[in-house]
Order: sequence, then C-alpha cells, then structure tokens
Amino acid sequence: MARHPRPHKAKSCKRTSLPSYAHKLPATTALPETTPDMISGGMATVATMGSDKDQLALCLRVLAEIPLAVILLSAQGHIIYANKAFSTLTKFPAPDLIGKDISSLVSQYPDAFCFHHLQEAFRANKPSHKKYRSQKINQDHYWERSNIVLVEVGQETHYLIGFFQDITLQVQSKELISHMAFYDLLTDLPNRIFFSGELESALKESCASGQKLAVVLLDLDRFKVINDTLGHTVGDQFIQHVAKRLRTHLAPNDTVARMGGDEFILLLPYIRHFHEVVAKLQLIKEVFREPFSSNNHILHINVSMGVSLFPEDGEDVHSLLKHADSALYEAKNSGRNHYKFFTNTLGSETTSDFTIEMSLRKALDQKHLRLYYQPQVSFQTGKIIGVEALLRWEDPEMGFIMPDRFIPLAEETGLIVPIGEWVLQEACAQAVSWQKMGLSPLKMAVNMSVRQFQEPELVEKVLAICQQTGLDPFLLELEITESLLLKDLNVIQMTLQWLKKKGIMISIDDFGTGYSSLKYLRRFPISTIKIDRSFIRDSQNNPDDAALVTTLCSIAHHLNLHIVAEGIENKEQYLFLKDLGCDAFQGFYFSAAVPADDISALLREGRCI
Ligand code: C2E
Ligand code: MG
Ligand code: MG
Repeated sequence: MARHPRPHKAKSCKRTSLPSYAHKLPATTALPETTPDMISGGMATVATMGSDKDQLALCLRVLAEIPLAVILLSAQGHIIYANKAFSTLTKFPAPDLIGKDISSLVSQYPDAFCFHHLQEAFRANKPSHKKYRSQKINQDHYWERSNIVLVEVGQETHYLIGFFQDITLQVQSKELISHMAFYDLLTDLPNRIFFSGELESALKESCASGQKLAVVLLDLDRFKVINDTLGHTVGDQFIQHVAKRLRTHLAPNDTVARMGGDEFILLLPYIRHFHEVVAKLQLIKEVFREPFSSNNHILHINVSMGVSLFPEDGEDVHSLLKHADSALYEAKNSGRNHYKFFTNTLGSETTSDFTIEMSLRKALDQKHLRLYYQPQVSFQTGKIIGVEALLRWEDPEMGFIMPDRFIPLAEETGLIVPIGEWVLQEACAQAVSWQKMGLSPLKMAVNMSVRQFQEPELVEKVLAICQQTGLDPFLLELEITESLLLKDLNVIQMTLQWLKKKGIMISIDDFGTGYSSLKYLRRFPISTIKIDRSFIRDSQNNPDDAALVTTLCSIAHHLNLHIVAEGIENKEQYLFLKDLGCDAFQGFYFSAAVPADDISALLREGRCI
C-alpha cells in the first residue's frame, strides 16, 4: 500500500534530515543507485558520476563501508538499500533484498526480527529502537540492537533507515556476569544470593498455601582432610561430584545451592508432614553412602545436616538460615554424620524447664500431642507385623518437638504418667480402628517410662484400657528400658509377670545401652529385645560394633527371645541383621514413624520388603 505523501507528524516524532542533495534521491527509483557494485563500494562507480551523483555515490560508499548494518526502506515499504554490513550480519545477500516489500520479507522470514521491527516502525510511522534475539538466513541466532529512524526528504517523501548491530557478545557477557552473580563457578549450582531469593519467594508461597518448608544446611564431614592430603584439585572435583549427586537425587522442586567451601544448602518446599523431611534427610544420607571417585581416588564421606522449618523455626530468610546453622553446629558437635532439627526455644537457655513444663501440660490438655507409628517388619516375610507408637508434640508456638527433647522433662516432673496413659489409650484405640477398617491385626508396641511403673495399679490401668478400647492384650507389647530393671526388683518382677499372664508382651528397648546385669534377661518375663540403633548405625564401619551386634543376637537366640533391630537405614544393615537371624526390624530403610493414615495406606497397598 502506498503511504505517501504523509502528513507532518507531531514534533515529538524523531526525524532526521538527509543532506541537501538527498531530496534528489527519487523515492521509487532508488534501485539503480544501489547496485551490488556500489554496495561493495566500487571506486569505479564513484568516478563515473556527475557532481551530485558524485556526492551521492560518496554517500552510498560511506554507507556501504561503515561497519554498521544499514537498510533503507522507501515510503512504499520497499527495501531500497542494504549495505554490506547488513549482509554480513544477517547473511541476506543485499542485492536479493532490493525492491522487496517489507511485508513479504516478514512472512518469508518470520524469525528474522530485523524485518519485523522495520515493518512495525513503518506501520507506526515512528522511529523506534529495540533489542531482540533474531535469526540469520543460515538459521544462526544472534542478539541484535536495531534503531530505526524516520527521514523526510522534502515535504512529502519519507524513508525509514534501520541501523542494526550485533550485540550477541555484550548480551552473553552480561548473561555471564549475572550468572556469576547468582551461581557458583565451581559447581554451577545457585549461590547464597540466589538461594536467599528463592527462599524468600518460597516463604511467600508457603504463607499463602499454608504449607511448610524446610531449610537444610549440609556440611561434608572432614572435607579438610581431603583437601589437605590430596590437594585442592581433587578437592574441587570432589565438590563438583557432590553437587551433581545432590542435584540428581533431589526433586526438581527442591533447590540445592552451594554456600561456599564444603557447605551446601537445600530448600525443601511443599512439606505437609514432618516425616517427609526426615525421609529426604535419610535419602541424602543414603546418597552419600556410595563412595565418590575422583582422579583414581575412592573417597568415602559423611554429611552432617542442620534443619530449620517454616513456620516453626522462623518466618524469614535470616532466622531460618541462622537456625539451620545452629542445628548444623549441634549435629557436628554431637558426633557428625547425622542431622539435627533446630529445637527452637527449647534449645535456648532462656526457656526454663518450668516454661516447658507448663507448655507440655497445656499440650496434653489441648491435644497438641500426637502419635506417629513406625512399622516393624518381619525379616522372614518382609511384611509389616507391628508398629511402635512414638510420641510427637506439635506446639503452635514452639513448633514440632521430638520426644528426646521433652520426655526426660516429662519423666522428671511426673507428667509422663498422664502422658503415658494418653499414649496407651490412643495407641490401643488406633490398633482397633485399623482392625475395624478390615486391616489385619498388628502388634502395637508402646514405650513405657520407669515412672509409670512406680504408679500403683499400673496393670489394672493397662487392662482397663485394653478392655475399653477393645484391643486384645495379646496384641500389646510394652517397651521398657534396662533402667527399670535396676529399680525395686521384686515389685517390678511381679508387675511384669502379671502383665505377661494377661497376655501382654514385654520388650527391652535400646538393648545394650544400659549397664544392668544380663541376668535379668532370665529373671524377668521378657519376650523381645530391641537392639539399639547406635550399634546398628556403626556396625558397617566399626568391627567392634559389628561384633557386639553379633554377640547380642547370639545371646538373645540362646535365651529364645525375639530380636527387633532398630534404626535400619540401608540395605547393608538390613542384610547384615537378617543374616544374624533377627526376627524383625524398624528403620528408615522401610519407613520412618508416620501418621496413622499413612500406616493404613501402607497396609492397604500391602507394602513389603
Ligand atoms: P525408641 O523407643 O528407641 O524409638 C526409636 C526411635 O528411633 C524413634 O525416635 C524413631 O523415630 C527413631 N528411628 C527409627 N528408625 C530410625 C532410623 O532408621 N534411623 C534413625 N536415625 N532413627 C530411627 P523418636 O520417635 O524420636 O523417639 C525417641 C525416643 O523417645 C524413643 O526411642 C523413646 O525412648 C522415647 N519415646 C517416644 N515416644 C514415647 C512415649 O510415648 N513414651 C515414652 N515413655 N517414651 C517415648
Ligand atoms: Mg521404643
Ligand atoms: Mg529404641
């Protein structure tokens, strides 16, 4: 469509006047002037022209030679000139373009954005400048800055001149610089700055959705030894392997960043249950069990992790990082190779036992205590044969508190007695509820505190709960610790025997960690021993622990006791304990302690190992 003569536009419109001779350039007859010869700047063309023509030729020669890609569009939207630099940049041979309509070029080369931009400016009849990623005729991509100006020649004729510049290098270096600002050079993982931004957005999202998230600070144990003995090159390669392994094994939604040195940080969003975090931490530990190989060196390394949770341990980036850091510190201090959750105000010295006691009392009244259940799995059949009820405290202010933190205080203050009664009641009711759902009966193991045994009428209370909830006492197992057997022996012996008579089983929890005489194993009516997870944890690396576990199993076998292995976290431990003839196991290898509904799901799907 012919677009001239155009009315004069508002002053805001940027116009550039061509030199005086330019108006002599016939708008529609530009083709003879832009011969390939001129585009290539042939001297001969200039020499054969008259004076105006000389000037024009000189002008065209300059255009032809400048290292800036230039294109000239007539008022009718036809290309009337393209210089050598334009061809070099876009790979479009200039002569092929001359006379072409801009619309047809846009449809013919939809990915060449220089034509789009020209067309846009032409339609708007406005100067314009832009930066975009475009395509050359040979399909190569490049970044381009284009500047289109409107030129009027005389009153009525208008040209568009497009100047195009390849800015790929600038864009790439800018990208590289910003990548370097947010990514770690060695591992290409996000860095601390990027992580903080991610955490900030995740916190906003979690606030809106009501979901939790976890921040995990992860530190390689004794990495310095690798650096010092094998050198920094191996150390660096090793860090790269670690980064890759973490990235591969975590979910796409999880963020893994490198804080620097041998410290990494993870953001685990969309957490619904605490045990999901535990399962992830276990997975990470598992990931590190496989040795790393770097430069012909096989390296075994453990990790320590500190965890803080939103909203329990903080509601902003700073406090979550700080609390994950103090949890990590605690993990490192308590022997490395494991994880610690930040324990919030419970960990601070300013919170008195009295405050905790008051909160715990409130928790019992206000039903902030919950039971989780950890499956016990038969080595023989691979199926779930029972569960252990494990107490959880979800305080609205202090967050999720694990039993190790509050059971000792509950014992000290005597609160464990009403709490223990609630646990028993709740666990028995749950066991019956599973049966009512048509699931096969499971053994229910309940932890009992020494304090509960000091109460008169314990047996009556237990039996009353069984009767009231409808649980067959033969399905109930009470877990006691060796320390109970150091108390008033005769009374304890009578109580345990009475319980046994009623069908209730007794197991010794954390077997091997107490200091009592082994004689009690014969003296008391014990049916099961549970080998403490501390022995199992180190049984693969420490021959003494392996020997101890073997001996404990052997003693238990000779005394015809059932053996439950606690804290099985991986296949090696599983196979080791299976070979020793243990009857059942508990541990993250199969499942952590989970809410009752999750146990129903596991049973329904018939999960076995
Ligand atoms: P426990 O009775 O020896 O319970 C086993 C503990 O080991 C549980 O910790 C369980 O979550 C953890 N565990 C299980 N499998 C693994 C594993 O593969 N790896 C690791 N690292 N840990 C594993 P939890 O739930 O924190 O309980 C700690 C202790 O608190 C219990 O040790 C028990 O002594 C006490 N406790 C829990 N609930 C009650 C309760 O209702 N009453 C009493 N009196 N004590 C309780
Ligand atoms: Mg136990
Ligand atoms: Mg135990």
